[in-house]
Amino acid sequence: MSEKLIFELSSPGRNGYSLPQLDVPEKKIEELLPKEKIREKEPLLPEVSEVDVVRHFVRVSIMNHHVDKGFYPLGSCTMKYNPKINETLSRLPGFSYLHPQQPEGTCQGALKLMFELGEYLKEIGGMDEITLQPSAGAQGELAGLLMIHAYHKKKGNPRSKIIIPDSAHGTNPASVVTSGHTTVQIKSNEKGLVDLEELKRATDEEVAALMLTNPNTLGLFESQISEISQMIHDAGALLYMDGANLNAMMGMAKPGDMGFDVVHFNLHKTFSTPHGGGGPGSGPVGVKENLAPFLPVPLVAKRINKKGVEEYYFDFKRPDSIGRMHSFYGNFGVLVKAYCYIRQNGASGLREVSENAVINANYLKESLKGHYHLPYPDHCQHEVVFSGTNQKTKGVKTLDIAKRLLDFGLHAPTVYFPLIVPEALMIEPTETESKESLDEFIQAMIQIAEEAEKNPEIVKSAPHNTPVTRLDEGKAARDLDVRWKG
Ligand SMILES: *Cc1c(COP(=O)(O)O)cnc(C)c1O
Repeated sequence: MSEKLIFELSSPGRNGYSLPQLDVPEKKIEELLPKEKIREKEPLLPEVSEVDVVRHFVRVSIMNHHVDKGFYPLGSCTMKYNPKINETLSRLPGFSYLHPQQPEGTCQGALKLMFELGEYLKEIGGMDEITLQPSAGAQGELAGLLMIHAYHKKKGNPRSKIIIPDSAHGTNPASVVTSGHTTVQIKSNEKGLVDLEELKRATDEEVAALMLTNPNTLGLFESQISEISQMIHDAGALLYMDGANLNAMMGMAKPGDMGFDVVHFNLHKTFSTPHGGGGPGSGPVGVKENLAPFLPVPLVAKRINKKGVEEYYFDFKRPDSIGRMHSFYGNFGVLVKAYCYIRQNGASGLREVSENAVINANYLKESLKGHYHLPYPDHCQHEVVFSGTNQKTKGVKTLDIAKRLLDFGLHAPTVYFPLIVPEALMIEPTETESKESLDEFIQAMIQIAEEAEKNPEIVKSAPHNTPVTRLDEGKAARDLDVRWKG
């Protein structure tokens, strides 16, 4: 299972190309490039053949876990299987060879696709207008909060505070601060939902908005959303929805109907773009009429031209806009994939996606609740949060359970999030898993719970079957240096 670095496979003089005989007069590099552009030393490159390269990268690709290889229940991330047809379609030359500075008249198809994708997302979210520009959920949050700021400022009172529950994703407080607001954190109640009393206490004239994830990061639907919306709007504040968990409610409930003024979509989560390796992603933001003037420019719009023909164009004439969030028009390839995914599923298909995601999560919840502590036992939505506190009494931490799962060829769930659950194990199976693959995961989790009782050492020293065992993750994040020193 071990694999050398490609530099270690290098052999002097070996290469993976052959060039035709030179049939023009040879020139020295100094005659072609200015002196300062010429490197002093040869670049340090591996000398390998084509087959060396292919085999090396194929081997490396299967050492890593990925959703095409196995179950990937990383909570909050919606690691669903991404149908390959979306990749094929997004790479059609008509899409992939477009240049972002092409005149509008030469890329009407692409504009139409963006316009229609916007219409679908508005329908799914119950929103009036939309921007496709932000490149991830976090950037969508920032865009939304900047619009909320612009809204209050326009009304003559730029409010400073944003309320978030203690179960919120880390990007929420980060976006609050980045957008120039301060966070007010409120405690969840014993059911894991927004505590209305706490909310009432925190709501005053300085509150610009409440930022809420629904279903929340415990996988629970905020059943008092109507009361929450009423309270927030009565105070002159707005309601932001973190839409990362939209996979739980497509076609069943719309954020707009619940009173949300703004919602971001994580296309790479809900609408099937491969993710987890750092991008690219896409985080469109839908808004109600009240926030529409502040949307980033440009918007994709449709009009009837002088010849009476429909045409699509970029609308830059928006004087109250917060400006651009991204170069050009966002990550277009991701938009194509989301469009294909929505068109293939249709309205009824998207509803089934969410229904099955919820059924799968509840199946896991019921199957594992006798083996792991379940702090919030109510009916869950698309994900369920267990706690490893029982195992901890045997000296087995949640991190150990996560590492042990790797020995079964399974990806670990999200751990230690949400922060309000000690030793949290946050499991999101998604709709794309069969009963067989869920059962395989359940069996592994039950076996690990038994090991924690009878043979805790095997869990504490896991993983045993991976190319490397425990890595210093802190060092890897803070002190990353991947340069080959030769
Ligand atoms: C993933 C996620 C985000 C951030 O989205 P990115 O697209 O990763 O920037 C925000 N909130 C929740 C609940 C999430 O799961």
